Amino acid sequence: MNAHKFIPIIFMLLFETSYAAEEIDYAQYFTPNMLRIDLHHGAIQGKEFFAIDGISAGGRFAGSKKHLLGGLNLGQYQVRVFDAETNIMIFSRGYSSIFQEWFGLPGSKTVNRVFEETFLIPCPRAKIILTLCGRDGSNQFQPIFTAPVDPGDALIFKEHAIGDIETTDILISGAVEDKLDIAILAEGYTKNEQHKFKKDAQRVMKAFFEHEPFSRYKSQFNFRSVCAISLQSGTDLPEQGIFKATAMDAQFYSLRISRYLTVPRVKKIFGYAARVPFDYIIVLVNSARYGGAGFYNLYCTVAADNANWQDILQHEFGHLFAGLADEYEAASLNIYSAEVEPWETNITTNAVPEQLKWRHLVADSVPLPTPDSLEYDHTIAGMWEGAGYASAGIWRPAFTCRMRENSANGFCPVCRETIERIIRWYSR
Ligand SMILES: [Zn+2]
Repeated sequence: MNAHKFIPIIFMLLFETSYAAEEIDYAQYFTPNMLRIDLHHGAIQGKEFFAIDGISAGGRFAGSKKHLLGGLNLGQYQVRVFDAETNIMIFSRGYSSIFQEWFGLPGSKTVNRVFEETFLIPCPRAKIILTLCGRDGSNQFQPIFTAPVDPGDALIFKEHAIGDIETTDILISGAVEDKLDIAILAEGYTKNEQHKFKKDAQRVMKAFFEHEPFSRYKSQFNFRSVCAISLQSGTDLPEQGIFKATAMDAQFYSLRISRYLTVPRVKKIFGYAARVPFDYIIVLVNSARYGGAGFYNLYCTVAADNANWQDILQHEFGHLFAGLADEYEAASLNIYSAEVEPWETNITTNAVPEQLKWRHLVADSVPLPTPDSLEYDHTIAGMWEGAGYASAGIWRPAFTCRMRENSANGFCPVCRETIERIIRWYSR
C-alpha cells in the first residue's frame, strides 16, 4: 500500500458550488422528448477512447426539466451538451461504468476492448456539440471526446418498441418530470415466471422504502416494472460453464469476480427500459446466488432470491443513485490513489480533521480519527481508516455502513446526506 501523502487540493468545494450553476430554460433548448446516445467506451494499447455506436429518438424525457446542469459533480465521467450556435452548456450529467474498473486492471494496457455505455439527454431543438469528459489526475473533468449532433439528421433512429411486453405501474406518486422514476426490469424470468417477477418487483419496491432516507421520501418516487421475457430461467455462471438464453444476457463473474453480476449488453437494458419512463434502472436477476452491481447513473443489478437481496439492493442502489464508494477493504482491488481526493462523498484521503469533508456531520464529542469500537454504530459520523478497498490511506465516515457490509443496519450519516441531496435536487 502506498504511503499516505497530502497534497493541496480544493477538497470537494465543487460539490457546493454546483448548486449555484445557472439554470437553463428547458423549453428554449429542448423538446419534451429524449435522445438516446449509445457509446463504445474502450482502450487501444492503453489509450482510452469513446465512439458513438448509435443515436435514437426516444419517448418523453423523464428527468428534471428544472435542474439540467451538473447536479452534484459526481461520477467518473460527465456528459456535456453545448448549444452549437452559442456554445452555452445546456445539459450535463455525471455517470460511471465498469470501464474504469477494467481500465485499472494491469492487463488492460495490453488488451484492446470496448464496453457499452448508454445515456439519455433531452432532445435538443437545434444542433449541439456533445462532449464526454473524464477525471484527470486531480479528479477534475477534462474533455476526452467531442462530436457535433444534429437532431434533424435523417440517420437518427426513430425507436419503436416492437413486441408484446407487459409493463406495470407499481407505485405512481406524480408526473414523470417531478418524480424520481425507477424501472425494474425482469432478467432471467421465463414466460411462465412472469407472475413470480411481478411479486419480486413488488417486494423490491416495498423493501426500498423500509430504510432511511428513502422511507421519508416515498412520495418522491414512481416505480414501474417491465416484464421482459427470457427463453431460459436464471442467468449466466461463466465460471461453472453455465450460459442461459436470457433477455439481457446478465452474467456473474464479471471481471472474473464471482459475485459481480453485470449486464455487458447495456443497449439491451435501455431497450427494455424504454417501455416505461425512467430515471434509474434496477435489473432484477432471477437467481438465488449472492451478487449484484451498481454504476452511477447507468444501472444496477440484484439477484432476486439470495438471502441477502435486501442488503445487496440498498448497497447497489447507493452506487447507482448517489455514486457512493465502497467503504470496505479488498486487497485485490487498487482503484484509488492515496494522493488524490476521491470524488465520492463517503470516502476521503484527507484525514486532517479540520479539512474533513463531512466535518459538519461529526459531533464535537467524537474523536478524529475515531477508535474502532461498538460504541459508534452506523448512525454516528467520525473518521475511520480503511475504505475504498484500501486498509490504509483512505478513511470512511462511519464504523459501519451499508456501503461497507451487509450486517450494517442501513447507511451512515454521510451516505444518507448524499442520497437526500440527490432526492431533493431531482424531485420537487
Ligand atoms: Zn456510508
